[in-house]
Amino acid sequence: MAINVKSGLENYSDKPRFHFDIYAILEGGQELFFGHETQVNVNIVETVTIPTPSNGEETNGDDGLEKCYISPTKRRGVERRALIWAPTGNGLLGDSLNCGIPHTCSKAECPICRVFGGLITSKTKVEGESEERPATTLIGRLTHSGGVAIQELSPEEKQRAMHPSMIRKAPESDPTPTPFKREYNQPGLLYPVYNHCLSMTETEFSAVAYAFMGALARLGAGNPKGVKIYDAPDLAKEDAEEPWIVVDKYLAPLGKRPVVSPTITDVKMAKEQFKNAAFSVRGSAQEPASELTEGNFHRYIGDAAIAKLSEYLIEFEKGELNVDAEIGN
Ligand SMILES: [Zn+2]
Repeated sequence: MAINVKSGLENYSDKPRFHFDIYAILEGGQELFFGHETQVNVNIVETVTIPTPSNGEETNGDDGLEKCYISPTKRRGVERRALIWAPTGNGLLGDSLNCGIPHTCSKAECPICRVFGGLITSKTKVEGESEERPATTLIGRLTHSGGVAIQELSPEEKQRAMHPSMIRKAPESDPTPTPFKREYNQPGLLYPVYNHCLSMTETEFSAVAYAFMGALARLGAGNPKGVKIYDAPDLAKEDAEEPWIVVDKYLAPLGKRPVVSPTITDVKMAKEQFKNAAFSVRGSAQEPASELTEGNFHRYIGDAAIAKLSEYLIEFEKGELNVDAEIGN
């Protein structure tokens, strides 16, 4: 029997493929709660410990920075839900595709599974479907990284109380609300995050753009929720504030990746590292500009990156959400 050497990715389009990257610094506008992955229901936030360089000196082995964290896996989950719960007419996109979490449809033609991936471990019967879903592996071509806060600011513990909605309680009943303690990531923390897309058509990337932007308002567990892209001067434009975000579309990775080292704790240093990388293409520093092009490599910076992403958001809306629009690649 002849062996299969192909990737197995079904093609529904004759459009060219590119790699895409989104690099952004997110800011928590208020306290945020992201539960520790191994500490379910105990109200502790997830942190990571970054080893600090010893500079050749003897250390006692426990030197390190503890930093708050938005883990990439959590961000990925919120992004996937942004697509599953996207409005389509009177319904939701995931319902119309019969695609959810953890039960993904894992079909190559699903705009969600196509980029996020899907897994059906064994033949499964799904309500409302005449045929069983076969065991399937569909590898996602979208990867998430980053999320370690820049500032070294420990979580803050707050006393919370669950107040029932009763206005008056009978004197004989227990009048005490139920108090509990919960840790929070403090407001104003900055989180550099990155999404990478492997060999996608622009239509496929439009789902990634929609998920990335849609998830911003919903990041966090419980309430409050939400982050925004950090606004500050001195990225492409001097003095004028703009969002610290870079979007790349390329065949060959010619641009230096604006990834902030987790060992940096100073916001000014982090911004310098981000900015220097954003304006470095083919190993040489470029004049700050909103767009940098080198052959097939395109980099959009700040407001220009938001404008570029917005084009894809509209494409996704037209293609997948607007029930009156023509659906096509
Ligand atoms: Zn699906």
